[in-house]
Amino acid sequence: MFIAANWKMNLDKQSILEFSKDLQNFKFSKDVRACIFPPMTYIDFLNRQIQNLPIYLGGQNCHFKSSGAFTGEISPKFLKDTGCEYVIIGHSERRIFNKENNNEIKLRAHSAINADLKVILCVGENLIDREKGNAIKFIENQILKCIPENFENSYIAYEPIWSIGTGKIPSVLEIREAHRNIKEILYKKFNVNTKVLYGGSVNVENINQILKIAEVDGVLVGGASLKVKDFLAIYTAAVKHLNNSL
Ligand code: PEP
Repeated sequence: MFIAANWKMNLDKQSILEFSKDLQNFKFSKDVRACIFPPMTYIDFLNRQIQNLPIYLGGQNCHFKSSGAFTGEISPKFLKDTGCEYVIIGHSERRIFNKENNNEIKLRAHSAINADLKVILCVGENLIDREKGNAIKFIENQILKCIPENFENSYIAYEPIWSIGTGKIPSVLEIREAHRNIKEILYKKFNVNTKVLYGGSVNVENINQILKIAEVDGVLVGGASLKVKDFLAIYTAAVKHLNNSL
């Protein structure tokens, strides 16, 4: 089970210090992996605050080249060097605001995996495609275009765009259908069993309902991961869920 916290462009040094202090006495479980994706400039700072804790670190994006004249970009090698184990690629905010297309996302994922990072590759439909009944077709197309042939030890995050930051989540049936399809496509095309995270307005109130869906291997949490109390409550719900299903 995997709990991924995408902080996006939030939390400054002081807030990270306070967040980290509150993590110190928490009992983490070996069965639930937690990973925080802080703003790039604070990866090293956060790393130093949580060195003694079993929390992984990740980057929110990386470039497809490992070095060169790419002002403002970040190399996957540098993420690895700074202590990251994971990287999010293809988040819908990057696709929309930075015009990253499927081909570029594929290159970024390929180069991240080559740098020994585990990728969390985001896919998900917009509201129009969901309402027209095209969601599964849309996701399938994204996957076929975005997944590099070296896609190993990595995850897909199913994040419907209409659910991110809106408080709306798909029904249990819709999440199950999307996750099943994603797993099937990846198995058929690349012969890999891939873990799929759900992302989009996950919070303390809906986490139990989401974790009950057998096809959900974890969650990617944005807004609710910014408050340490909520982040730990979501983590605790995952531990309880695992213990109950043993
Ligand atoms: C995200 O942007 O990855 C995300 C899941 O955000 P939120 O939880 O705030 O909807």
